[in-house]
Order: sequence, then structure tokens, then C-alpha cells
Amino acid sequence: MRTILFLNPVFKQMVWGGNQLGDKFGYAIPGDDTGECWGVSAHPNGKSIVREGLFKDKTLSQLWRENPELFGNIDLQYFPLLTKIIDAKGDCSVQVHPGDEYAREHENGSLGKTECWYIIDCEEDAAIVLGHNARSKEELTSMIEQKKWNDLIREVIVKPGDFIQVDSGMVHAIRGGMMVLETQQNSDITYRVYDYGRKIDGKERELHIKQSIDVITVPAPSVEESVKSTVHMPKNRMNELISCHSYVVWKLDITEKLTFEQSHPFMIMSVIEGEGEIDGHKIKKGDHFILPDGYGHVDLQGDMVIIASSVK
Ligand code: ZN
Repeated sequence: MRTILFLNPVFKQMVWGGNQLGDKFGYAIPGDDTGECWGVSAHPNGKSIVREGLFKDKTLSQLWRENPELFGNIDLQYFPLLTKIIDAKGDCSVQVHPGDEYAREHENGSLGKTECWYIIDCEEDAAIVLGHNARSKEELTSMIEQKKWNDLIREVIVKPGDFIQVDSGMVHAIRGGMMVLETQQNSDITYRVYDYGRKIDGKERELHIKQSIDVITVPAPSVEESVKSTVHMPKNRMNELISCHSYVVWKLDITEKLTFEQSHPFMIMSVIEGEGEIDGHKIKKGDHFILPDGYGHVDLQGDMVIIASSVK
């Protein structure tokens, strides 16, 4: 259908959140501890609502149920993806997500979670947690039980423009001082491995040690397999960053114009830098929208960076 579903984002306040979503993206944030902007979400914990046009005021989850033709009539109970912009002023807890099979069995038939990050901005020498140093499940278990966190956790230095694939089973954490666009499976199942001993209102947050040991992949995939720089990718074309069982993600770095056919069941787009036009509609940094199934010819122009995603 030849309509663009522009969506209003939902904000989440977090212990590690900051004010960059207001200062850098111009959103009306609810406080100086705003950690996440859910740009495209049909999750019950934060529902995107259509901003204008034919489907104004409908939620994305409602459209998924009532107008499945907008999304290629995919045979799934839920809209499969969730797109967030994250402002981590402080460190996020070290966590791991189950795969689909483990989640189905242990989490009431829920989906597992694979996610990926595009680093929008970060401080010099900023590091993420990605993977671990244990060589066997026994070593992993004993390092966790003995709380040898510094030996266990693998840190990786990142730069703006880096793209990181975080498969289910991969230990990970975003650290303080970075903004990230996250594309993920629409699931909220997270096992907390370690929280730096932080206390919130006098109490440490619950850890999920047994489940974590169950699902952590050993040995961890290599850093080279998981991290790629996108800064030298060509401009004015669709650069595929990843294609996996959960999603396909592209980076579009537009300095003049880009045209293509939207032939996927749907295409999510988030403008993370600059401004321009899509088929005569003005768009700017912070806008999130979906091009439905059968949208056809797309004409983008301006000076902007877009992260796009779909399913295979
Ligand atoms: Zn995660």
C-alpha cells in the first residue's frame, strides 16, 4: 500500500539513562534519566502509535491484527521487530538473551532475542561488553560462581559507525557514554548475569545465574565475526549490515539521492542524522516510520543517515 506509517516514539526512564535523546534528537523526554526511545514497537510494554494519515491514532499492534496486508500477511502472532535508540549515560547490566528454542520451553512459548547495535555516538575509547573469556561450560560456571567478573567479561573498544551483531547466547552490555540504535526481535526476555554490585534503593537487582549459564554460548563468537565498521561504506545506496534468521538491517548514507523498490513484507526506517525527503514528505533526525508491503518505488533525497530493517 502506498502510504507511510509515521510513528510516535515511546520513552523509558532507566537508572542508567541520560538527557541526550532530548539534547541531540530533540525529543520531548520525560526526565534526565531517559534511557530508551522505542521508535517502532508493538510490544505491550511500549506501543507505537501512528502519527498522521489514514491510520492516525492506531497502534502498530492493532494494525498488525486488523490490517495484516500492510505487512505482507506474515503468519506470526506479533510484529516481529523492535527498534530503539538508547542513551546510556551509565553502564547497562551485563546480560544474555535465550534463543527461540530455550525461550519457547522455559518462558511460556515466548520468542528468544537476537539484537544488533549501530553506534550513533560514543566517547573516545568507549567499550562495550561482548562475549566472555571462558573456554568451556565448566570454566564459565566456576568463574560465575566465584564472581571472577573481570577475568570473565570480554570488553571491546568501539567507535561511532560500528555495527555489532549480538546473537542470542552472547553476553553483552552497553557501557556508559554511548548512543546506540538497536534493532531486535520483539521480545523482552533478558537474563541478568552481573550488575556491577550496584544497589538501587538499597537493593541489588535480581540476577539470573542458572538461566544465564544454560544459554551462554561457549566459547563466545570472535570479535571479528560480530563487529564491523560502516564508515567507509558507499553513499547513496543500501548497504546490508546483516542478514540473519531474525532480521535484515541496512545503512543508507544519503548525500544526494537514492531510489529503490520496496519489495519486502515491510520496511522500518529510522533517521539518525540529518534531514531530507521521502517521496515528497519531509523527514528529519529522530523520525521513525514503516513502508508497508507493496509500497513500490521509493525516492529519498537530502543529507541524512537512515538505518532500515525488515525480515526475510
Ligand atoms: Zn540485550
